[in-house]
Amino acid sequence: MNHNPLAMFQTQHEDGSVTCTLCPHYCHLKESELGKCRTRYNEGGKLVINNYGKVVSYAYDPIEKKPLNRFYPGHTIFSIGTSGCNFDCDFCQNHTLVHFEGSTPSISDETILRMAQDQGSIGIAYTYNEPTVWYEYVYDLSMKSHALGLKNVLVTNGFINQAPLEKLLPYIDAMNIDLKAFSESYYSEICSGHLKPVLKTIEIAAKHTHVEITTLLIDGLNTGDDELHALCGSVANIDPEIPIHLSRYFPAHRMNIPRTRIETMVRAKHIAEKYLKYVYVGNCFIDE
Ligand code: SF4
Repeated sequence: MNHNPLAMFQTQHEDGSVTCTLCPHYCHLKESELGKCRTRYNEGGKLVINNYGKVVSYAYDPIEKKPLNRFYPGHTIFSIGTSGCNFDCDFCQNHTLVHFEGSTPSISDETILRMAQDQGSIGIAYTYNEPTVWYEYVYDLSMKSHALGLKNVLVTNGFINQAPLEKLLPYIDAMNIDLKAFSESYYSEICSGHLKPVLKTIEIAAKHTHVEITTLLIDGLNTGDDELHALCGSVANIDPEIPIHLSRYFPAHRMNIPRTRIETMVRAKHIAEKYLKYVYVGNCFIDE
């Protein structure tokens, strides 16, 4: 007997198929078919979730590791992740977690909420894998966490539809949103996603909550001057006070082109500073 909960965003069809309306992939699923994120499937004409409450990974992290540099700096946040992602990035650094399919002991909400108040933690960061694909759990837990006065942080690729985003935002205190590049071809060919919905998410989220952006720079793929000007300019058009984290790429998962050069990081930082007030570079002090 199945106890997996129903997905909150779905459209059921007369022929027994169902469309997931949580993210812009709009997976249309026949009986037993899994969505692209591998966390939702059609069971008896209804969309159900297979990762509700299945916390695969947790840790107490400095908030700067999310990365968030201008939201409770110097504080710790209890960080949790499950499995699944609605992107499939060639350079994914968390692919073992994202594709995890083993069994996990379930941790009660009470335990998670108690841990979120331990060790000086200010609340819960939904991170490690994409929080959109465990939306229902994030939504339920963030409501409970807020009721206790805790903070909720999303670390996300921003690939979510407007209705679910707006429903969740009242409980979210900060977001780090990846803006992986400023070209549709990069998003579709390297990440299996799309650029426009991510820009829309940044625009909507910035009106409601604290937002910081992360861009992983990969030499030759998203580091052209024109693209960097366009990317930083688009963030500045939303709000020039949105912090941006320029992160240096290292080979991971299916991508093995060489690490990004330091000169590229410096050039990107100079361009970003023409548009944005707070520019941070990351992963530059790792052994060459
Ligand atoms: S959340 Fe998953 S199942 Fe739903 S549309 Fe996106 S990829 Fe498909």
